[in-house]
Amino acid sequence: MKRRNLLRTVAVLPLLPGGFAAMLGPVARAFALRPNRRVRPSDSAWPSPASWAKLNETVGGNLTQVRSLFESCAKEPNGPACLDAHNNSGNPYWIGDQPAGTETAGWLDAWAPAPSAYALKARNASDVAAGINFARENDLRLVVKGGGHSYLGTSNAPDSLLIWTRAMNQVTLHDAFVGKGCEDHIAPIPAVSAGAGTVWMDLYTAVTTQGGRYVQGGGCMTVGVAGLVQGGGFGEFSKGFGTAASGLLEAEVVTADGRVRVVNACVDPDLFWALKGGGGGTFGVITRLTLRTHDLPEFFGGAGGTIRANSDAAFTQLIARFIRFYHEKLFNPHWGEQVHIGPDNTLEISMQCQGLSHAEAAETWRPFFDWVNASPEKFAASRLGAGAGSARNHWAVHGNPNMIPDTREGAPKHHAWNRGNQGEVGIFLHGYDSLWLPVSLLQASQQKLLTDALFAASRHKMLRVFFNKGLAGASPMVLAAARQTATNPAVVDAFALVIIADGEALAYPGLTSTKVDLAAARTDAHDIDLAAMELRKVAPNSGSYVAESNYFNSSWQSEYWGKNYSRLRAIKAKYDSTGLFFVHHGVGSEDWSDDGFTPLAK
Ligand SMILES: Cc1cc2nc3c(=O)[nH]c(=O)nc-3n(C[C@H](O)[C@H](O)[C@H](O)COP(=O)(O)OP(=O)(O)OC[C@H]3O[C@@H](n4cnc5c(N)ncnc54)[C@H](O)[C@@H]3O)c2cc1C
Repeated sequence: MKRRNLLRTVAVLPLLPGGFAAMLGPVARAFALRPNRRVRPSDSAWPSPASWAKLNETVGGNLTQVRSLFESCAKEPNGPACLDAHNNSGNPYWIGDQPAGTETAGWLDAWAPAPSAYALKARNASDVAAGINFARENDLRLVVKGGGHSYLGTSNAPDSLLIWTRAMNQVTLHDAFVGKGCEDHIAPIPAVSAGAGTVWMDLYTAVTTQGGRYVQGGGCMTVGVAGLVQGGGFGEFSKGFGTAASGLLEAEVVTADGRVRVVNACVDPDLFWALKGGGGGTFGVITRLTLRTHDLPEFFGGAGGTIRANSDAAFTQLIARFIRFYHEKLFNPHWGEQVHIGPDNTLEISMQCQGLSHAEAAETWRPFFDWVNASPEKFAASRLGAGAGSARNHWAVHGNPNMIPDTREGAPKHHAWNRGNQGEVGIFLHGYDSLWLPVSLLQASQQKLLTDALFAASRHKMLRVFFNKGLAGASPMVLAAARQTATNPAVVDAFALVIIADGEALAYPGLTSTKVDLAAARTDAHDIDLAAMELRKVAPNSGSYVAESNYFNSSWQSEYWGKNYSRLRAIKAKYDSTGLFFVHHGVGSEDWSDDGFTPLAK
């Protein structure tokens, strides 16, 4: 940015009648001036009720004042609104349907859910553009929310205007999609377009259950599509199909100048690249996404069970054996998901696979299970097993014991969430960290180092080792596609992402049952730090996944994006030079105060 010229323009402003800014159109004005401090409702410059009313009219009456989730309970604890909130507080779809809803109920010493002043429930890109223009012209703190699953709390902020995409939830399948402007360069392929307010369950239902194909999304079905893609996005079968960002073919996005753009590999390719993993709420508001679809494998399956070692020595042996087994049998495009390595010397297996029959999945695991079962004096094993079934039924709700349906009146029949995600609904986080494990640690000569580090770290906290969130072991095509995204290139050299986290649910501010023991929570946070430190000894600077990471990560630019950060910074300056879009530890956020209200002097 030509900073010196810009400042000179500002310096002569008072000399011009009505100010130089008054001579410019609203868009040019925004880009000619140094960013202003954001305005709060207590400031005299806060838009008048008449201005808000005009915006409301422009967007078809879809502007509302926002109340916190449990505000009604303070006034009328037995009133219908409070009872409704209590009854539904464990339902992620209900939370997502509230303008103030956040799936995470806050994070110790980091953030607490805070309702925006107003929410604009956008119906289309024009509504979004109206909201963006209003925020820019009035120096408002702008927030964007889709599925509301940000761990870092980046889709809520006090005294802000929220652009809320929830109502844009149309899903369209294409047999032969080609991006606008790409007609002469790229062959049409099967795809799915989705409004930015859809959650993955909407796509899995349309693409897989109904359509018999596959789209790469996230593991949690209530995560929003736009948030996941912009974070990078891993699902259980990412080792086979790559990240969600890799599958993006096109996006409709409204940028800070209020322009509705359709971007892809042929039009605004720099912005398109940034949307693929450069972080949500940073480059514009996505209103529609188109993602490639894949042939659906015949089978999805997995392996599960729990193995408890009766001594530290036996547990170390178990970890070592599992790493060897993983490297020999599971380090390939078929296998993903996780194992937990716990302080109580327990290895909990919760792996998933694609493209293997029941017999093949069972045979893969037989040698490992045999080894465990051969030593009952060392290992107590329960529910060990592996197998597979119809891939098409994977996300079917009816008769699926893993699914909890949304039974509210009028809820879509396909809306359900996975039992395994229930503990995360309304969780108040005590701490959270993640790091990628480089594939070099799987080499025979390094396996002991890795084993010892995992054991040492697990003395402090349970480790969740996600093999689907590191792409090493995937096909060359998947790796090449990931390299075409803004996600930290470390992801292609990592065989897993370790997540260490803890918290308690349900713990929303205002919910009467919320009683957080702060001292215990701080001890938890400290233990998470200690566990992560042990792992960073063998994987220093290995990177961390932006969407599932530590709020307090001080090296976030390099940890989240590696060498891609400087390019992302330049794209941010090009499309949002005044920093209208701000999120905690998002690209360009170093120019702002922590709350995103005050531009910092450079
Ligand atoms: C319970 C749970 C499970 C998860 N599981 C997985 C998983 O399996 N795999 C994985 O990779 N990640 C997972 N995540 C992380 C998740 O991918 C990210 O938090 C993601 O950004 C959430 O998107 P969202 O739309 O639901 O959330 P939001 O909070 O609405 O948005 C997240 C960020 O994206 C921005 N954003 C949202 N919509 C738009 C838009 N239309 N245009 C521009 N910016 C937008 C927001 O401003 C915010 O900064 C999980 C998170 C939770 C809480």
